[in-house]
This record gives sequence, structure tokens and C-alpha cells, in this order.
Amino acid sequence: MTFTLFPDTRLALARDSLVGLSVGDAIGGRFFVPGGEVVRWRDALPAGPWEWSDDTEMACSVVAVLAGHGEIDRDALAVAFADRYDPARRYGAGAVTLLELIRDGTPWPVAAAAAFDGQGSCGNGAAMRVAPLGAWYADSTRRAADQARAAAEVTHAHPEGIAGAVAVAVAAALAARARLDGDRPEPARLLGAVTNALDPAGAVHRGVRRAAALLGHSAEQAVAALGNGSRVTAQDTVPFTLWAAATHLDDYPAAIRVCVEAGGDVDTTAAIAGGVVAAYTGVGTPGGVPDGWLAAREPLPGWLPTHT
Ligand SMILES: [Mg+2]
Repeated sequence: MTFTLFPDTRLALARDSLVGLSVGDAIGGRFFVPGGEVVRWRDALPAGPWEWSDDTEMACSVVAVLAGHGEIDRDALAVAFADRYDPARRYGAGAVTLLELIRDGTPWPVAAAAAFDGQGSCGNGAAMRVAPLGAWYADSTRRAADQARAAAEVTHAHPEGIAGAVAVAVAAALAARARLDGDRPEPARLLGAVTNALDPAGAVHRGVRRAAALLGHSAEQAVAALGNGSRVTAQDTVPFTLWAAATHLDDYPAAIRVCVEAGGDVDTTAAIAGGVVAAYTGVGTPGGVPDGWLAAREPLPGWLPTHT
């Protein structure tokens, strides 16, 4: 079936994913334990406001560029990342260096290529911010993958850093498409479609294939085999988050809980899984982002567009 998605519909889908991403980021931040220890979930969640971090700040820039340009304009995205970068939002050291270079006038291709002694970043930062872009492209996983690549390249020159973003965007596109169709995809079909969009020689591809083989296993087994983001690389983060999202695609609180209990880079794993799941569930719906959680999350920035 083909259909037309009007820009404001794309934005509404992306904004629901962004709510899921930001609430996951903010809850994960309340549970984050330096050193990546595993923490216990508490049903009585800490009192708000829950502050969001770099994951949400960068995701808001991605959505703003999509709303303003209709697609990813890499120069505009680099400027948005650099101009809106707030050091208090717990950016990683590599991102701080890169964003300060861009802010001081270094072209983004030069800054991104120079990162990590010229290897480029394979961190999870391009994946953590991209789920709303996938929801925006609910009508085309191919377009979601291409645009995710463009959005990643601004900061991540390493193929694994880019692959992590492509994987998350394709998963979110399929989740948003499933929402429009009213038809939840089988977890194995969701992860299979993600692996089809990735380079088979890559570590992220291997990890997502492993995640598919672990469907139906316990979260502990999934974490042991896939990682939990404690190395903050794409390959150590994305496979587990997509396992969590595929397993709990119709249950946002369960997806967030499994990320929190996994430990590691909790704000980012919860942001990725939350962004994908909310692209399917929406907000304030059965299984969606709970209204109380949304109310406890610090408001999103005032510059985030509400229409295209
Ligand atoms: Mg963060």
C-alpha cells in the first residue's frame, strides 16, 4: 500500500517518537550510576522534574531541521548542534571537542573526520538522537536509512557510528508505519528488516542479527551477549536497544524498565528504545508513554517547531 504523508503528519509522528526518546533519556538519567552498575527499577519513580540530556537536545535539532528543510540539510544540522550545545547536558568528551570545533568555524566534515585520531567516532551519539527521523519517514525505510546516514555523518565518520543510526532509524520507521497500519510487526520481522538495511560486514549488523536470535530469551541473557552501552559505542548499544524495542513494542513502560535494569549507558539505551517504541504506541495511549511520566519530564525547548 502506498500513501501520502503530509509534512504536519510526519512532524506529529516524529514528535511522538521524540516524547518517547526524551522521557526515556530523562528517566534513564535519574537511574544512571557512574561505572555502569546495574540498578533496580523502583515502581515509585523519583519525583520530577526529570531533566533530559544531550540525547534529547540533539534529537530536537534533528526534528527542527526536518521541519524547517523537509529533509536533512547537513550544514544546517551541524550549525544547529553547535549553536544549541549546552555543556550542562552531559555530552561525552568527544562530542564536546567536535561541537566546539564546529562552533569555532571548522567545517563539519573536517571536524568529524578528525575525531578519535582520524578514525571518526563510532560512538552511540548518532543513534541516540535519530528515532524521530525514522518516524518522520514512516513511508520509506530506504529514505529513513539514507537520511539517517546524512544526519549521522555530521558528527560520526566511522562506519559503525553511522550504521547504528541507520539501524535505529529503520526500526523507528517500521514502528511508525505499523502504527499507521494498525498492525504490530513480529519482533523477528522487525529486526530482520533492520539487518537488511545494514552492511553485512559490520559489527552493528552482526549485533542486530544476534539480537534477533535472542528474541524470547531473558533480558539478562540479551545484555550478556549484546552489551548495554557501557562502552558507549554504537555496536555495544544499538543491538540491545532494538532487542528491547522489538520485544516490548506495544509496552513503553516495559521497554524503559528493561533498559534501566540493564545498567550501562542507561539514558541513551532508554532514549533509543523509547524513541522506537513511542513511534508505534504514541503518547498517553494504552501501552504508550504514560501521562504522568510526560508531566514529570522537564519541558522540551521552546524552539522545537510545532508545525512545518
Ligand atoms: Mg545523555
